[in-house]
Parts: sequence; C-alpha cells; structure tokens
Amino acid sequence: MEVTVLGTSAAWPAPGRAAAGFLVRHEGTAVALDLGTGALANLQLEVPHERLDAVLITHEHLDHCLDLYPLTVARVFHPEPLTPLPLYALPGVFEAVAALEDEEGREEMRGLFDVREPGDTFEVGPFRITTRGLPHLVPNLGFRIEAGGAALAYTGDTGPSGEIEVLAKGVDLLVSEASWEDEGGILVEGHLTARQAAEHASGAGAGTLLLTHFWPTVDRDRAREHAAAAFDGQVVVADERMTVRVGS
Ligand SMILES: [Zn+2]
Ligand SMILES: [Zn+2]
Repeated sequence: MEVTVLGTSAAWPAPGRAAAGFLVRHEGTAVALDLGTGALANLQLEVPHERLDAVLITHEHLDHCLDLYPLTVARVFHPEPLTPLPLYALPGVFEAVAALEDEEGREEMRGLFDVREPGDTFEVGPFRITTRGLPHLVPNLGFRIEAGGAALAYTGDTGPSGEIEVLAKGVDLLVSEASWEDEGGILVEGHLTARQAAEHASGAGAGTLLLTHFWPTVDRDRAREHAAAAFDGQVVVADERMTVRVGS
C-alpha cells in the first residue's frame, strides 16, 4: 500500500500548494482520501480522475471536500458515461458541495456519485476501512485503512482525543493534522499542534508520523522539530506529490 500526498494546507492553499487530499493505492485500486481545494489537480498527475474507485471525505469543511465540485464537472464532460463513483461521507458533505449548483445541477450531481454513509467498517477493493468520530467543529471521521498487512490512519481535522489512539493503534503510518506548531500559536480550536500530533502517534504506537494540514503561515521545519521532541519514531513533513510506502 502506498499513499501520495495531494495537498497539505489547512483552510486555504498556501502558495503552490493544495488543501487536504491524499491518494491511497494498492494492487491497482485507487481511493482519494479528502479532496480539498486544488487536490484534484495533483491527483490527476498520479491517476486519471475516472480511474478512482472511491472517494472518502472526513468532514464538510471545504478545505477537505471542495474539489468534489471540479470532479463533478470533469465527470459531466467525460466522453463516455461513467458509473456513479462511490463517495463515503457523513451527511452534509455532499450537500455542502452540491449547494454550489441549482436544483437541476444538484440532480445531475447526484447521478454522478453513489453517496454512501460510512459505517464503522466497510471495504473498497483490497482495502478494509474502519472509521471513528474525532472531535472537531463539525462531525469529522478519522479513517483507518488496511491492506496487504499494512495499516495507516488519517485524522482529518481533530482536536486532542484518546480516540485518535484507538483509531491508529499500532499503525505503520499515522497521517495527522498539525495545524499549529505549538500551544502559543493556536488560532482556531478543534485542531492539533505538531507536538500533540506526536504525542498521539506515540500513544498509538505508530511507526511513522506524517504531519499535514499546516496552517499556511506555520513554519513546517519548526513543526517537525516540535513533533520530533515528543515521538521516538520517524517524523515526516508531508509535501505535495510525496509518495510514502506503508508497511514493508
Ligand atoms: Zn481542515
Ligand atoms: Zn475542518
């Protein structure tokens, strides 16, 4: 299993970057994990958009799901009709993006996606996926994805919570939001600092911590230093188009 970073910015895309998004691949199955502002552009450098097998969205904030809209437009103009794309998201996510369209456009959009509410566990191709609600300003689902004997967990947006460690217990890779460097720089509650992300990685016994979802003004090198001080494993700062192999 491998994960490619599509976007690393919180809230709005920093210069040359995109908001939250990842592409998880194993044995020819490709799943997008969040599709924030600009993530679709980077996704298509890796895989044609029509080859996606499913999209998983953590929550309704647009830095995690806005690119469902350009994906809709791309699917409308695809030369051959496409079967509806499975979209796993909490109620409100699809509607937040569909609200950009009038009623006719919303109806067309509904035909392009197969919107499914994620249960506690479900499967997409070789992926076994587990979900867990994590505390944020709106309902947010953390995802644990397992395939080929490897496991990763992704927090979406979350404040500090023991639930992160339940979700990420023993994973090879914890992809964690790290909106702020440290406690002194918190602008919005419901997020983690890099150090808090590292403390959760440590509590979960994760192998590697991939820091992402940086507020655009955050110094990423300093964020890494804060995290490294609280976690014995490897700390990696996510970067657009970086691919990380998960497990051996
Ligand atoms: Zn966010
Ligand atoms: Zn959010």
